[in-house]
Amino acid sequence: MSGLFHHCILQIALDTPLNAIFDYRWHCDAAEQPQVGQLALVPFGRREVMGLIVGVAAETDVPAEKLKDALAVRSQLGPLSPQWLALAGFAADYYQRPLGEVALPGLPKNLRVLTTVALDRALKKLAKHDTPHDGTPLNMPVLNPSQQEAADAIGGAEGFKPTLLYGVTGSGKTEVYLQACAQVLAREPDGQILILVPEINLTPQLEGNIRARFPGVMLATLHSSLSEGERMLHWLAAHQGKARIVLGTRLAILASLPNLKMIVIDEEHDPSYKQQEGLRYSARDLAVWRAWQLGIPIVLGSATPSLESWHHAQSGRYRKLELRERAVKNAVLPTVKLLDMERDKPKDGLTSHLIAAIKQRMERGEQSLLFLNRRGYAPVICCESCGWISECTRCTSFMVLHRPEHRLRCHHCSLELRIPRHCPTCGNVDLQPLGRGTQRVEEGLQALFPEARVLRIDADSTRKKGSAQEAFDTVHRGEVDILIGTQMVAKGHDFKRLTLVGILNPDTALFSQDYRASERLFAQLMQVAGRAGRAAQTEGGSASEVLIQTRYPQHPLYGAVVAHDYDHFATALLEEREQAALPPYLYQALLRAEAPELATAIEFLNIAKDCVEHPGITINDPIPMSMTRVHNVDRAQLLVESASRPMLQAFLREWLLTLREMKSRVKWSLEVDPLDI
Ligand code: ADP
Ligand code: ZN
Ligand code: ZN
Repeated sequence: MSGLFHHCILQIALDTPLNAIFDYRWHCDAAEQPQVGQLALVPFGRREVMGLIVGVAAETDVPAEKLKDALAVRSQLGPLSPQWLALAGFAADYYQRPLGEVALPGLPKNLRVLTTVALDRALKKLAKHDTPHDGTPLNMPVLNPSQQEAADAIGGAEGFKPTLLYGVTGSGKTEVYLQACAQVLAREPDGQILILVPEINLTPQLEGNIRARFPGVMLATLHSSLSEGERMLHWLAAHQGKARIVLGTRLAILASLPNLKMIVIDEEHDPSYKQQEGLRYSARDLAVWRAWQLGIPIVLGSATPSLESWHHAQSGRYRKLELRERAVKNAVLPTVKLLDMERDKPKDGLTSHLIAAIKQRMERGEQSLLFLNRRGYAPVICCESCGWISECTRCTSFMVLHRPEHRLRCHHCSLELRIPRHCPTCGNVDLQPLGRGTQRVEEGLQALFPEARVLRIDADSTRKKGSAQEAFDTVHRGEVDILIGTQMVAKGHDFKRLTLVGILNPDTALFSQDYRASERLFAQLMQVAGRAGRAAQTEGGSASEVLIQTRYPQHPLYGAVVAHDYDHFATALLEEREQAALPPYLYQALLRAEAPELATAIEFLNIAKDCVEHPGITINDPIPMSMTRVHNVDRAQLLVESASRPMLQAFLREWLLTLREMKSRVKWSLEVDPLDI
């Protein structure tokens, strides 16, 4: 026996906030050595949990009586590659989290919880699953010269080459990605490509394009609406190198891709690439690191690049490729007009000019899209006799009226109430909705255009699984005359029959405290405007138009939108940021604390502020978060800044050690490169 078995020590990362690697004893079978990158089942406290082997050693400092045995090693699954472990390690270091908390949640749940027998059955299913359908690829459209140049530059690149593909909406960026992919797949017989999109609702459109274009290639998708079973199959297909194209949302950046040869980030400016809870990572930034690590090309595409990427392009760190025109022949960018709401007073939220424009589209059988980034019927209801308003009892926010659902809802803590019949303070029965959301606009449109087929698309109308896709299909089939929606409809969709976009109520963002608000508003307006006029203009058809209803038609931001002038706008914003010493010229981290009382959170942050020495680092005073109370918890934050990223990183590492040792009962978390401050 002793010749065949000997003991070894498995060093294991576990999904726990304890910043440590744990040692376990394992009787190694000489024929089957455990490997770094494999999963192992181990006892932890009173539970059995799946951990990741990050080292195998002969000895440990843990005293023998304290050392526990590992229970099983998942040997049927090939180990995660050293490159993948390095990616997880980088993310853990950079975002200041324990490795296990980064690596393990990145794996499909079933891989961690299924028994060995059940896992084998999965694996078998994949073996059956894996024959992609044959078929002839759909004809590739002939690229125009700028597209061709971009596709060749991207697809032909060798080594780490970050490319910013800056192309106006409808310029055919997708086609460039696909043809660059074709080049890479042809050159690299086993090569894999990772394509990220910001919105889950954009995956079907692109998935359809990819399947039609590459019928012999296995495609795996990774996003949050897959069932656990599907997610595991797709993850394994990527991990085993069978799926050659992996399409997903931000979480797919942590997919195991042993033969990754290129990364595509579509709509790279989109804030959805930033995870806003738990490990608050930027999938775009990790993607750039991953491409650098592997020495492969990466393309970041957008009509309105983030200022970070624009800055890199200006400084020459990224290569910039431009597509200045729409790809479809005779399709042109829409004319953008500002409608002054002081002159043309809106009725039911719509100015007479916008109503006339919709009417014209109706008569010509064309589609209109109205964009309002506020769901519900009205953001608040109020009592006109005593001034009561529907505030949330648990949050610093209002209860939103959802009339079709007969409910008041808080969008922050999900509190739901029936609509009160009378004012809770004075008994007045005449409660009024104040302001308007998508439901109210929908109601107004139906009254104005009784014969129109009106469709609302927002988070409320698409709660059921699959309903969003169904709604988008209805639009594509032309069964909708007027579409009203939130940012869900603004991004990426290639609506062919749409010639009018009306934008309601964008003004509030002009006066936001958030220094990123104008960058975001501009991107959002350009994106939604970009849904209009994507097909060739037909004879007798309307020229495509974007109408923005505003009280500030003189505002320079709108001037830039009218001129479709991202270049100057971005360059001016960057200059402002440099003068004000703001990102991307400065690096930030945010320490958040929450407690039942605001004073407790602030007190914790004040202690944190003074607990370490910090040359080269500015620590601001703690302040309450702008939405202070959510679900009966008060929240405060402390902003840390430095002109040097390495200095900030070094400071954070040391700071967190101290903070962890404080063992405060206050719940706190750290975010590196915060987007909302
Ligand atoms: P973007 O992502 O830049 O907004 P898309 O990739 O969605 O633009 O392309 C817009 C439209 O142009 C799509 O309908 C696409 O099929 C079409 N298209 C792209 N390239 C060409 C081309 N070279 N010739 C004709 N049509 C094209
Ligand atoms: Zn009242
Ligand atoms: Zn609430």
